[in-house]
Amino acid sequence: MLSGTSWAFNVSEDLWRSYTWQIQNRIKTLEDLKRFIDLTPEEEEGIRKTQGLYPLAITPYYLSLIDPQDPNDPIRLQAIPRAVEVDPKVQSKAWADPFKEEGQIPGLTHRYPDRVLMVVTTFCAVYCRHCMRKRIFAQGERARTKEEIDRMIDYISAHKEIRDVLISGGEPFSLSNEKIDYILSKLRDIDHVEIIRFGTRLPVLAPQRFFDKELLKILEKHSPIWVNTHFNHPKEITPLAQEAVDNLLRHGVPVNNQTVLLKGVNDDPKVMLDLMRGLLRIKVKPQYLFHCDPVKGAVHFRTTVDKGLEIIDYLRGRISGMGIPTYAVDLPGGKGKVPLLPDYVISREGNTFTFKAFDGSKVVYTIDEPL
Ligand SMILES: *Cc1c(COP(=O)(O)O)cnc(C)c1O
Repeated sequence: MLSGTSWAFNVSEDLWRSYTWQIQNRIKTLEDLKRFIDLTPEEEEGIRKTQGLYPLAITPYYLSLIDPQDPNDPIRLQAIPRAVEVDPKVQSKAWADPFKEEGQIPGLTHRYPDRVLMVVTTFCAVYCRHCMRKRIFAQGERARTKEEIDRMIDYISAHKEIRDVLISGGEPFSLSNEKIDYILSKLRDIDHVEIIRFGTRLPVLAPQRFFDKELLKILEKHSPIWVNTHFNHPKEITPLAQEAVDNLLRHGVPVNNQTVLLKGVNDDPKVMLDLMRGLLRIKVKPQYLFHCDPVKGAVHFRTTVDKGLEIIDYLRGRISGMGIPTYAVDLPGGKGKVPLLPDYVISREGNTFTFKAFDGSKVVYTIDEPL
């Protein structure tokens, strides 16, 4: 049985389960997409106007999650271009690189002393319309060369304060197993690098990548490796996504999730509760809920901070603390992420606090140190 609504893809289960097939059969043109979905005029215009700037690519798997009858389907909003992406009125209050990721060494961002971000490719399985690195779409699909990777690794090697390396993109798991093994081996040769993390959306966009036993063995060999993925909606939690996550967990790779708060997709407390519950069911830990960044081409997905706080407040008491992500906003100028919390301390006098409990009641509690 094929997963999801595999309507219109007349393929064997073997092919559907093949990552290579999913990538080779990505939908990349207006004509192609029209074979599967009745596009709205806004979408048709969007696909034409974003060509070359913010390209279109959707795996058959991710496309199959769309309800073609629903113009506001949350998968559709994340995957199909709309004209608003290039509307100057809407996008003028946004920046290509608001967080100053681009630095001295191509692909490397060293913001926090102990952590470094490596962007190893511009390729993605699906070009998410809300991508925070939308600026790199126009560079075409290009993986960093061995020389470029070596430069990044030399930098990490020379900076002893770096303990944590985040490998992202683009889609880092689009690299070949050999290249992934090469990068991990080089990083493991550096004594001060303790933790290696991948920022990947393939569990959501093409979970078939993690059916590859060779890749899983490479990750296991270079333990501790962590995966940060990016589920945004409960519809994305499918049996195939679960299988991918299971494979990672079985090979010792914990899977954490970073959701982005997106207007029309998940800016609804009930949807978010469903998502967080679904993630815990497949043993994915919700780590962050990011406020949508002012990124050119994606700023129309922004909602208010009050909406984000409302969602976090709604989750409290309805799901285990394990299922409540840290709501965070990225500060401009490369000043990093800061957490945002609803006000649980209503007032405070000395050590006497008035708290708001999960059920909304007020509790006065004096928390003294022992003498
Ligand atoms: C988000 C980010 C990190 C990782 O931050 P964590 O809070 O540890 O997940 C590291 N470097 C850069 C540039 C980042 O944007």
